[in-house]
Amino acid sequence: MTADPLFFGGEIFCRRGYPKTHPLGIARVAAVIDLCERLDWLPAGRYVESPMASEAELARFHDPAYIAALRRAQRDKRVPVEIRERYAIGTLENPWFETVYDRAAFCCGGAIAAARHVAAGGTAYYPAGGTHHGRRDRASGFCYFNDPVLAIYALLDAGLGRVFYADIDGHHGDGVELAFAGDPRVFMVSVHEAGRWPNTGGLADRAGGNARNLPVPAGFNDSEMDLAIDEAFLPLARRFAPDAVVVTCGADALAEDPLTRLSLSNGALWRAVARLAGLAPRTLILGGGGYNPWATARCWAGVWATLNRYPIPDRLPPAAEEVLRGLDWNFEDLEDEGRPERWFTTLADPPRPGPVRDPVRAAVAAVLLA
Ligand SMILES: [Zn+2]
Repeated sequence: MTADPLFFGGEIFCRRGYPKTHPLGIARVAAVIDLCERLDWLPAGRYVESPMASEAELARFHDPAYIAALRRAQRDKRVPVEIRERYAIGTLENPWFETVYDRAAFCCGGAIAAARHVAAGGTAYYPAGGTHHGRRDRASGFCYFNDPVLAIYALLDAGLGRVFYADIDGHHGDGVELAFAGDPRVFMVSVHEAGRWPNTGGLADRAGGNARNLPVPAGFNDSEMDLAIDEAFLPLARRFAPDAVVVTCGADALAEDPLTRLSLSNGALWRAVARLAGLAPRTLILGGGGYNPWATARCWAGVWATLNRYPIPDRLPPAAEEVLRGLDWNFEDLEDEGRPERWFTTLADPPRPGPVRDPVRAAVAAVLLA
């Protein structure tokens, strides 16, 4: 067993998947892998190619009829209307594409493999994971299956008794919360934008006791995130005394993301990961949302640096800069703001500290109450 973190990737995530017009029709994972390679952050033996999950592995959580329906949709290159209505696949939100089943099954296979690695002790990073909206028997929020749920099951099935799930994506981790509501082996904490889709995860929502939710206002800044981590996530985790920590580290709470109105810099997410990774002898960091390809790739490359304590260069070497300059984005309505030079030449965002507002303080206090 090595103490060094492992990076789980996958060739399929580097190929075209979602349609170009979809928010996930961007090259996120490929860019993270390329950046890490060109920064010499992926030495031999540290990169693992993800396996595809078998139908039996998917059925640890998902309805076999839904698994079969998604597989058939890929094979037949069509989604009949009754299947679309029943399983929410072939919609604008969860579109059909050539590799829709394979990609979703590989996504879960990587998370399961990473969890099995972590179960023996250590740290794994899997930026292609984090499909936290997927339901047992339908797609939701761009997620066909739910790899965080399957990863948590893999940890429990390996004999671990207590898993702490931290969700710092900009959206509520509703699919994971539903899956483990009332299960005392899993404790779940999610911070997310209030009033944002899927409109669940209110302050009073505790999923039968083992979840805490921190809905936060638009403009949520680095100082507020630091407080949420230090004064809510960390004490809740210590109280739970987990054997393993699983983090969904979506990059859509960053200020430059088009799908939320939160205002974090990537430094706030890196600090959060560093703190959460120290809570248990086993840590699995997943990706999640993230719809600005530059913000997401820079953030997630920095997460890997954080887990390895690699110093982040002030200015990227030309080979890494080339990766960022090569990215493409079809999100036309944001283009009038331009693309700042630092999206191509740096990893670290300028910090975004600010006042800690009352709703954030109130949420932190409320989740600590027994
Ligand atoms: Zn999200």
